[in-house]
Amino acid sequence: MEIITTAADLRYAIARERINGKRVGLVPTMGYLHDGHAALIEASRLECDLTVVSIFVNPTQFGPTEDLSIYPRDFLRDEKLCRGAGVDVLFAPDTEEVYPAQFQTFVEPGDLASPLCGAFRPGHFRGVATVVSKLFNMVQPDVAFFGQKDFQQCAVVRRMAIDLNLPIKIVTVPTIREPDGLAMSSRNRYLSDEERRRALAISAGLFAAEAEFRSGERNVEKLVAIAKRQLETVDRLQYLELVDSDTLKSAESPLIRPAALCAAAYIGATRLIDNVTFALPTQQDKRL
Ligand code: AMP
Repeated sequence: MEIITTAADLRYAIARERINGKRVGLVPTMGYLHDGHAALIEASRLECDLTVVSIFVNPTQFGPTEDLSIYPRDFLRDEKLCRGAGVDVLFAPDTEEVYPAQFQTFVEPGDLASPLCGAFRPGHFRGVATVVSKLFNMVQPDVAFFGQKDFQQCAVVRRMAIDLNLPIKIVTVPTIREPDGLAMSSRNRYLSDEERRRALAISAGLFAAEAEFRSGERNVEKLVAIAKRQLETVDRLQYLELVDSDTLKSAESPLIRPAALCAAAYIGATRLIDNVTFALPTQQDKRL
């Protein structure tokens, strides 16, 4: 595994491989890697010949009162995980490499960035879209892998790739969870044992709604209410919304289009997000 810290070295290393016709996969991360990231790496290794993992805690996607300065970092541990997972290139630039002095050009996403996390984290998706497009330009991958846990991020990135004519396939990888259901997240390490137990309410609420959906419930208010009952034990529910998977606008009853039930909640001082998706049978499925 090659460890690279500058965009120039990265371009050289990848161009060298591309000449040999290799298909390049990119897994963008902020480090402090866990099995969720490992699933993205695995997906890239299955689909691509060369897997690049980037580790960069992107300052432009954090608000002024958010956890940028304390965001967990452990490069040696991440390096080990990447080596074990068969990563080919680990790209770990510093902030100046990504945002040189006088930096002033951003990518501004549209309506998909407004609801859910976007409503509570102004500028967050502008920062995400900007850094992801910069990483896309630096790596020039054929395929990029993102986790469903960040459902809105997937929607924003997919839209950006279409809108900016980026010749990159965007793949969404299902959420990886702890055995008890909690979605894996680098931020889980902020939780005390007692908070970790209470954090289970988030996935439990989403799963309860999912079970009702599977039993045939299609009423939006009812599905949200079922999840909300379990989520009452969180310290602060920031949002719990059932949205259309494509537009991220509020889903309408009865559900006839794919939808996602998305939640953001505080457990103590830690903000966690999670979601479940509700797929509806297509006409083709119905004929089978
Ligand atoms: P992060 O390092 O948290 O910015 O995440 C980097 C990538 O890993 C993003 O595409 C996330 O959606 C994805 N990711 C984070 N947690 C999980 C998880 N539990 N399961 C699957 N993907 C995840």
